[in-house]
Amino acid sequence: MGEPPDEARRILLATNNPGKVREFRRLLEPFGFVAVTPAELGIALEVAEDGRSYAENAVIKARAFAEAGGMTALADDSGIEVDALGGRPGMYSARYGGSGLDDRGRVEWLLSELAGVPEEQRTARYRAVAAVAFPEAGREPVTFEGVQEGKIGCEPRGERGFGYDPVFVLDDGRTQAEASDEEKDRISHRAQAVKAAAGYLLECGR
Ligand code: IMP
Repeated sequence: MGEPPDEARRILLATNNPGKVREFRRLLEPFGFVAVTPAELGIALEVAEDGRSYAENAVIKARAFAEAGGMTALADDSGIEVDALGGRPGMYSARYGGSGLDDRGRVEWLLSELAGVPEEQRTARYRAVAAVAFPEAGREPVTFEGVQEGKIGCEPRGERGFGYDPVFVLDDGRTQAEASDEEKDRISHRAQAVKAAAGYLLECGR
């Protein structure tokens, strides 16, 4: 039987998005951090993501949850940037195509917007900015960015991951949703940002 988690090792995730929560947990565990969700702590908070950049939005979310939970909080703001669409949807990826769509609907919307665009022009990237905020007054949040390059395929393939993963094509031709969790955690935008954040917390104390 393991020791109960040390309070100092607990981090509040500033999201209840199940896809993100699964990834945060996998990424933080090897650093010895235990991730808890707002729902698990009974925190219900709607945060307006009205920043002008990924970093601003990540900081807004992390700050709000660190204050509400009285503990260190980790947020990420992320999106997919499609070159043929001038970098859209970017920061607006979660609401792309309108708020009535689910992940599958947004993927279909993206494919329809790219209809007729040849493979070499379907380049895209995922970008994530992770923000860590602290409950102590006056301690400023810190941010870390990660980027993963890929291409948008012509049809969804694979069951893993979430969001745009079924059409995000890797160098070897598979989609991100066809790659294993371990592979995603080695290369993803979120993995880069969250690992940097966890490394910072280990080094700089909390
Ligand atoms: P937000 O960070 O909550 O604003 O949401 C970012 C949105 O970008 C997600 O809801 C997904 O649609 C998309 N996204 C970000 N990261 C990923 C990923 O790793 N896989 C697939 N879609 C992603």
